Amino acid sequence: MALLPIIEVPDPLLRAQSAPVERIDDELRQFVSDMFDTMYAAPGIGLAAVQVAVPRRVMVIDLQDPEEEGGEPVKKPYAFINPEIVWSSDDRSVYNEGCLSIPDQYSEIERPARVRARWLDEQGRQHDAEVDGLLATCVQHEVDHLNGVLFIDYLSRLKRDIVLRKLAKLRKEQGIKAA
Ligand code: ZN
Repeated sequence: MALLPIIEVPDPLLRAQSAPVERIDDELRQFVSDMFDTMYAAPGIGLAAVQVAVPRRVMVIDLQDPEEEGGEPVKKPYAFINPEIVWSSDDRSVYNEGCLSIPDQYSEIERPARVRARWLDEQGRQHDAEVDGLLATCVQHEVDHLNGVLFIDYLSRLKRDIVLRKLAKLRKEQGIKAA
């Protein structure tokens, strides 16, 4: 198990366009496995490769649905290589989104409620599926990362500034605590 360091705003790499993966091999599979370890440890439900400073079109998602009240979350890991959103619904949904690269900040973001995506998994198998609910939001959030887009970009300038100011304040407090 390897935990990779997660980069945070305002790291300019988060604004990069990630490059397509050209070969799915053992090295990539090890990287995907490290990304899952990093995401579970964070903890988070999605992670794009650029967030661990590797600007490649790779992302992992696991909503870790609680099986039942008080039960262990059921792991359902998805690895997406070179994902593409090929269709988005007109109907929209709103989720309170967060991001491991914008720690402890959450905002309600409206996005298409359903999307159809195509991607390869870490074995090189093709997938083509329509997803909805939280998974649809998560797929869109992570694909945005591959294109250098963050959820705060959907906020008004005023709301975005508030989020970034709260983050700066939090970092300052944590810095003081650590000192
Ligand atoms: Zn994110």
